[in-house]
Amino acid sequence: MMLGFLLARAGVDVCVLEKHGDFLRDFRGDTIHPSTLELMYELGLLDEFLKRPHQELRQIAAQIGNEMIVLGDLTHVPTHCKFLALMPQWDFLNFLVEHARDFPTFHLKMNAEVTEVVEENGRVVGVRAKTAEGPQDVAASLTVGADGRHSTVRKQAGLEVIEIGSPMDVLWMRLSRKPGDPGQSFGHADAGKMLVLIGRGEYWQCAFVIPKGSADELRQRGIAAFREDIARLTPFLRDRVDELHDWNDVSLLTVKVDRLARWYKPGLLCIGDAAHAMSPIGGVGINLAIQDAVATANILAEKLRREIPSESDLEKVQQRRMFPTRATQWVQTAVQNRIIKRVLDESSRPSFPWPFKLLKDWPYLQRIPARIIGVGFRPEHVRTQARYQNLPRAA
Ligand SMILES: Cc1cc2nc3c(=O)[nH]c(=O)nc-3n(C[C@H](O)[C@H](O)[C@H](O)COP(=O)(O)OP(=O)(O)OC[C@H]3O[C@@H](n4cnc5c(N)ncnc54)[C@H](O)[C@@H]3O)c2cc1C
Repeated sequence: MMLGFLLARAGVDVCVLEKHGDFLRDFRGDTIHPSTLELMYELGLLDEFLKRPHQELRQIAAQIGNEMIVLGDLTHVPTHCKFLALMPQWDFLNFLVEHARDFPTFHLKMNAEVTEVVEENGRVVGVRAKTAEGPQDVAASLTVGADGRHSTVRKQAGLEVIEIGSPMDVLWMRLSRKPGDPGQSFGHADAGKMLVLIGRGEYWQCAFVIPKGSADELRQRGIAAFREDIARLTPFLRDRVDELHDWNDVSLLTVKVDRLARWYKPGLLCIGDAAHAMSPIGGVGINLAIQDAVATANILAEKLRREIPSESDLEKVQQRRMFPTRATQWVQTAVQNRIIKRVLDESSRPSFPWPFKLLKDWPYLQRIPARIIGVGFRPEHVRTQARYQNLPRAA
């Protein structure tokens, strides 16, 4: 959606295909990072964006056993907003759509599921989609696969995937939030268990981290035992774990970490999770996907207005975004293997590794993880020109 917005703003005729009829799906990550807020500022949309309901997170903390450590202090990041905004992703996407519709070259087709990539003479020339009106072909000088970590486009295009793997899966649920509850967002861990809580106004979005593939075993123990696990780990939730009536109130998200060896082929480019599925660690996947979109628009918008981008143009996008992808996945893998794996081992007595203890003794250092999470490696800036000024808002 971000790429669609930026290309349409730069005068490129663009059609976004979305397989669902709306963006209302729980839960798909609701973090809008300082670097994304900075892009909103560069686009002149920040003030309006911040009028939409959201919460602002300035510190990221974690607790192992009884020890609580602030891992990141976002109040010093080098951007206009020194916080991370928590906003349902459907509100963010709807915001982008509303503004993209200001541009006559923006087209959005909902309920259009891409099923095939259409090739002619070794070049991708568009896609075939399943729509309410039947199968439909969409021709394009460039097809961008931004269809997430189970990308149909990358599969259809036969691009080689490098699996990095993850030792965990995540169970998502909501529990109500009450006056007097602590903090805004934090993680609790103890031998074999880990719960991350994100304050979302009237409720906590809860992520219960489990060893990969162990969801069935957990379900067999029954919902009562699961409620007890949560209450033991985070005692202030004991008075409301009954809100989890049965397993229908708990959804499983399987974690995947991978990346494509090559993000492109003639006529086609993959970005976001389709090019590199991200672990939920640090909650940086949305940010990275948006940064990819900005880099793609910066590199390709002018070309797309005049001609069909060549393979070497597409290669420039991968070259630009490979370093931040590799570096972020390296950090995520290190945290997965050195901390999460240890915490999920029931026989261990987990504690913070020594570098984390430094964060407690020297709070100044909390700015480093905050910068990695909040801004990321190689932040992008909007370099494309707006072709349309002061257009009346579309109905
Ligand atoms: C458990 C879990 C929790 C996470 N939490 C966070 C978090 O808090 N913060 C964060 O930044 N990241 C988080 N992430 C990562 C984040 O969700 C992704 O990195 C990010 O959403 C990637 O954006 P994207 O646009 O590439 O793909 P997506 O957000 O997956 O969007 C892909 C879109 O394409 C549509 N689509 C799919 N297939 C087709 C098709 N065939 N035809 C048409 N449309 C199609 C989908 O409906 C969807 O709208 C989390 C990941 C996991 C697994």
